[in-house]
This record gives sequence, C-alpha cells and structure tokens, in this order.
Amino acid sequence: MSTSAHAPAEPPASAAAGTVTDRLVEANGHYASEFKDPGMDAKPVLRVAVVACMDARLDLHKALGLSLGDCHTIRNAGGVVTDDVIRSLAISQRALGTRSIILIHHTNCGMESITEDFRQELEMEVGQRPSWAVESYTDADQDVRQSMQRARTSPFLKHTDDVRGFVFDVTSGKLREIFPAS
Ligand SMILES: [Zn+2]
Repeated sequence: MSTSAHAPAEPPASAAAGTVTDRLVEANGHYASEFKDPGMDAKPVLRVAVVACMDARLDLHKALGLSLGDCHTIRNAGGVVTDDVIRSLAISQRALGTRSIILIHHTNCGMESITEDFRQELEMEVGQRPSWAVESYTDADQDVRQSMQRARTSPFLKHTDDVRGFVFDVTSGKLREIFPAS
C-alpha cells in the first residue's frame, strides 16, 4: 500500500457504466474461457510460503519467477507477521507441506506514513477501538527482522530453519536481503 502512488487514470468512457467489480468479473469470463484445469492438488509445488505487503506495485509471481501452483502467498498491510499470518503459515506447513518462508516488505510503503494513532483516531470516529495493532513502522529493514524473528520463534510452526527476509525496491524491482541483527 502507498499513500504516494499516482492517482489512477480516469476509466475510459466505455467502462464507465459498470463498477470496477463488474469489469473484473467480465475479465474473469475471458480468463475462464481459456482456462485449462491444471490438475494440481492444494500443496504448493515449491513448498514455500511467501508473506508480503498487499502493495499494488508488487507482483509477487513475476518478481520471483513463480508459476501457478508454486507457492502460498499471504499478504496484508505491510507484510507483517501477525497472529493471523502465523495461523496461515501453520496451516501452510502442517496441512499443506510447505517448508520455506520468504518475507517481503518494500520501499515507499504506506505503513511508514501512519502511526499507532490510527487506532485512536478510529476509536474517536466509530466509538470502538479495534482489537488489532496497526503494526506501522518507520524502518522497513528492522520490521523485516522483527517479522523473521516472530516466524522463527513461533511455537506453532514446524519448519523455521529456512526463513529469509527481503525489502523489494518498487522503483528498480530488485529484492535486497535483510539479515538478522547479529
Ligand atoms: Zn506496503
């Protein structure tokens, strides 16, 4: 996510009649008309789970050379390892056979421009404080380290020897590996 992304272009007049969801459903019609059953089961071929930010500029499959069926992708705001990400990783490893974890944050993330005040502002607005932490951060490298640490020390994960973390540069497309603080 980002608060500094370019404003989206105005949709062409021909698409103005439908909502964005209508357009996506229409696109699915074309996709399905050419779709061939890949005959796969639910276990990722490469036995890897990728945890990444939901940012629209990060095309995980292209950026990592992945194909359909290769990996689990678990995404949220920031690519932070939260309890719910641990839930998905535990299922990924214990029920669906993954062994490796890749964590990806990125440059120019929207999480860098909000703070934990976000929760308080929400409470003021709606009269209820969310139960979740915002998990905002100012240092992507440090947050990748924290996320690696959470994954490596989780009692619910079976495989924690191959957990690696990266920051994706949204301007160059390159990954930079982050190593745990020694
Ligand atoms: Zn982000």
